[in-house]
Amino acid sequence: MSAVPQAASRIPPIVAASSSASAGCGDAPVLRERGQREVFCGLTGIIWLHRKMQDAFFLVVGSRTCAHLIQSAAGVMIFAEPRFATAIIDERDLAGLADVHDELDRVVARLLERRPDIRTLFLVGSCPSEVIKLDLSRAAERLTRDYMPRVRVLNYSGSGIETTFTQGEDACLAALVPTLPRETERDGPTLMIVGTLADVVEDQFARLFASMGVEARFFPPRLSRALPDVGPATRFLLAQPFLADTARALEERGAVRLAAPFPLGSEGTTRWLKAGADATGVADDVFERAVDGSRNRAATSIARQRLQLADRSIFFFPDSQLEIPLARFLSRELGMRLVEVGTPYLHRQHLADELALLPAGTSISEGQDVERQLDRCRAARPDLVVCGLGLANPLEAEGMTTKWAIELVFTPIQGYDQAGDLAALFTRPLDRRGRLSGDRLVA
Ligand code: SF4
Repeated sequence: MSAVPQAASRIPPIVAASSSASAGCGDAPVLRERGQREVFCGLTGIIWLHRKMQDAFFLVVGSRTCAHLIQSAAGVMIFAEPRFATAIIDERDLAGLADVHDELDRVVARLLERRPDIRTLFLVGSCPSEVIKLDLSRAAERLTRDYMPRVRVLNYSGSGIETTFTQGEDACLAALVPTLPRETERDGPTLMIVGTLADVVEDQFARLFASMGVEARFFPPRLSRALPDVGPATRFLLAQPFLADTARALEERGAVRLAAPFPLGSEGTTRWLKAGADATGVADDVFERAVDGSRNRAATSIARQRLQLADRSIFFFPDSQLEIPLARFLSRELGMRLVEVGTPYLHRQHLADELALLPAGTSISEGQDVERQLDRCRAARPDLVVCGLGLANPLEAEGMTTKWAIELVFTPIQGYDQAGDLAALFTRPLDRRGRLSGDRLVA
């Protein structure tokens, strides 16, 4: 086993079985499909997680393919001291000629000696480590015993076996929940925001809640010494729609999830903030005063984009798990027409407030049978297609206009101040297509 700094690849599609339709939530029909999928794996989450958690390190235990994936996705980070690497499982490990646990211990010892700034080390499982049934939880326990109190070692799976790329964050945060301190005695409920947000967005939300007199605590925190405590007085708001396991782990610690839409667009952000405000006893007038200015600015910037997006049709392939909240924002605030909203997984409870806001009769699909979905997309010829990287180029070649779903996860899109930028992410490809057509006409 050898450690390499990082790198990428297209993930081979995962093949499953059959396809079926069934009645949906409320009046929204849900088409459930299982077939060939086009997705990235959960290792991708390391890209935004390592930027957020500044004293954590992510050691992927995987193959050269895994190393290529992360290094390409992370791009520029190869020029800096990275906070992720891959311990390559090589032929000797696979042939049983080396004890993989001994090899891993050696890699970790070298890493921690060289990097005294690391406080949390994540051993990240991959398809290869799962296929050879490498028990990373046992390794994490052993290494924690060796390196605590300086370094805590945790493990989670980022493998691409039956997962989609945002599940890596869910698995990582769920692994972190047991390490959260037990809640101290408090007079009233406390508020925790759950899900990785760009620092600029986190600061905006912290300021908005502070102006209502509420201290919002964020999970994951930027530094491991700032882990928020958790218990029955904790009320938590999910900032991302793909954190099912994390939410369950927090609920097992006694915390209570606040039902709300997600903070995308002005409406989603207002309702999301209001759920947090109501749970912590903020009066309506205090809330209105706190959000008024930001909400007005968001409305102005959204109105500009609406001129270009209203009445355009959009088709979502399942990829990021952000599809349903995005569809709600694009239809209600920008006037777009939803042709099909595909999502890899539909968590009915966490998305209940979102589903209730979608236009009646929206066509929702869960899972994927990519060929069938491509047929539906081609038949509909939508103005804009949101899809993974693997589908974007072929669809562009067929004359369709596409938006990469992964960009929506790498970009700060939550909150009032980002609402106009989020809408602009959808106007840009249409604008580009328009200019290209113009160029061709001129030529
Ligand atoms: S974890 Fe699996 S899907 Fe992801 S890069 Fe490694 S081999 Fe590919």
